Amino acid sequence: MLTQIKGLHHVTSMAADAKTNNQFFTRALGLRRVKKTVNFDSPDVYHLYYGDETGTPGTVMTYFPFPDIGRGRPGTGEVGTTVFSVPQGSLGYWQDRLTQNGASGIKSEETFGEKRLNFSGPDGDGFALIEVRDDARAPWTENGVDADHAIRGFHSVAMRLRDEGATAELLKYMGYETLEKRDDVTRLIVPGGNDAKFIDLETLPNISRGLQGAGSVHHVAFAVNNRTTQLEVRKALMDTGYQVTPVIDRDYFWAIYFRTPGGVLFEVATNEPGFDRDEDTAHLGEGLMLPQQHQHLRSVLTEHLQKLED
Ligand code: ZN
Repeated sequence: MLTQIKGLHHVTSMAADAKTNNQFFTRALGLRRVKKTVNFDSPDVYHLYYGDETGTPGTVMTYFPFPDIGRGRPGTGEVGTTVFSVPQGSLGYWQDRLTQNGASGIKSEETFGEKRLNFSGPDGDGFALIEVRDDARAPWTENGVDADHAIRGFHSVAMRLRDEGATAELLKYMGYETLEKRDDVTRLIVPGGNDAKFIDLETLPNISRGLQGAGSVHHVAFAVNNRTTQLEVRKALMDTGYQVTPVIDRDYFWAIYFRTPGGVLFEVATNEPGFDRDEDTAHLGEGLMLPQQHQHLRSVLTEHLQKLED
């Protein structure tokens, strides 16, 4: 069993409109945009990152806004819900705030002894806020949500699976343990990780496979401390029979990817070097940052990419 995985690193989804996406995450949810760059494999499309002040692993929601992409069809083989941690007693505030910002599907419930508020993002993206006692992570409070209410980072992701067996087995190999089972949901936890340490596995045997589009989670990334431990994880996964990509430089972290038996695309990303490698912490997310290989496209991309601010 591996001990190098330290919880979630980031979650990457797809959106239909960059400006709408940016407004929802910065204004409605109050997160900080920590990076404005492009999809390294398709540089005419943005890659937008939202998180806490510095984009600490375990807080970072990222988006590829493909203009006019069709909406995804939710199903199995994907992350269905991305869940953020908020302070105790804050869900009433969030119910009002999300309603005022036009969020749909707002519904409160209690599961696993936790109060949660489910809602949908601009493209039907599945989200929830869960009240967590004593989440010590410092929130970003410069975008209109004060510290008594602000999002601390991820709590978990919930994966929709036709059968949880093989995915649960893989996650246990990656260091997760079963915490609790309720109805059709199994909650896993990784000991010794960051605060984004939970995974929920939902078993939905009669639901067909999701079709990816706007509002779909493209992949979920798990955190490792550094490149050495990433290589250990890569070797262990390959020795177990997984097809894992080579290490890819994403400028703010190094990444490896592999498809899991339940259909969900996993990434393992390093906590180094972080989002301040090419911008001061005080100005994260402000400029259009391009990787070396796309620097020559700067004037074309500046002209082509949609303006995010009014
Ligand atoms: Zn990623």
